[in-house]
Amino acid sequence: MEGTPPRTFGVQMGSSAGIHRTVSQFIPLVGRTQRAAFVIEKLRERIDRPTTELNYETPYQLLVAVILSAQCTDERVNSVTPDFFGAYPTVDALADASPDDVYPYIQSITFPNNKAGYLAKMARQIVEQFDGTVPATVEDLETLTGVGRKSARVVANVAFDVAELPVDTHVFRVANRIGLVKEDADTPKKVEQQLKRVIPKEDWADAHHLLILHGRYTCTARSPDCDDCPLTSVCKHYDRLQRRPDPQDDLNASAGSYYCTTSEHYFDEPDTHIDRHEVEQIACPHCGSMQVLRTRNGAPTKQVKDYRVNG
Ligand code: SF4
Repeated sequence: MEGTPPRTFGVQMGSSAGIHRTVSQFIPLVGRTQRAAFVIEKLRERIDRPTTELNYETPYQLLVAVILSAQCTDERVNSVTPDFFGAYPTVDALADASPDDVYPYIQSITFPNNKAGYLAKMARQIVEQFDGTVPATVEDLETLTGVGRKSARVVANVAFDVAELPVDTHVFRVANRIGLVKEDADTPKKVEQQLKRVIPKEDWADAHHLLILHGRYTCTARSPDCDDCPLTSVCKHYDRLQRRPDPQDDLNASAGSYYCTTSEHYFDEPDTHIDRHEVEQIACPHCGSMQVLRTRNGAPTKQVKDYRVNG
């Protein structure tokens, strides 16, 4: 919010377990560290058990579930893993299987051919290189087929209590929307590194799950439920949404496709401008204003930056 005076959000902090700074008076939340502490505190109040929604009992089962969950919902993964683990209860059992053997158990999952191959190869790697035991470090986990940066950190964190803050599509989107990371955080790795700088290490694991669950159920990709969100007072995305003009009735669509509320002109051929958030916006060709409505429905043309990553 460059160019505007620091806002006072009026938040009292330090009352919840896990908030490690004690601040007894109302303070202005202007920095990302303060914003992150507020977000964690508020989400802890709403989310009782910040943990994975994948069903598992052993590190091996978690590793399989995490590999299956790439670009797939946890719900779908949980629907196939009981039969899968019945057929392949151990790493050794899976290491003896071929991708064709595995495929029928995971065919309702996204990318079943690729994942069947990953699982069979991953199990053989664990048997041959780690004596049949799932490795506990991020470095070793990342050597396994089908296990990338995020998946290795999820398994290390959830199964072995390694302090990590994996960034999936939800964490990436929510962190960017709220403004927990800088505008240049355009990859999961950058988001992870920047979050680790503003969140205490002992809160990394909780932060990971809290941001995922918030993104999955409230701050969804297509329609964030800001009306039911406790973070509006610190959220940059919400702040931008408030600056959009309201829809307007009684526009004359036959006079032009667009209507500029600043110069009160109708026009068909819009200009474009880059706004202060570096988002390209439709602008009035007469006065350059970005306060432009679509005459068809009276809705603003202003785009608000969205953040999505795959995986
Ligand atoms: S205020 Fe809206 S955009 Fe911001 S975190 Fe909440 S749901 Fe997401």
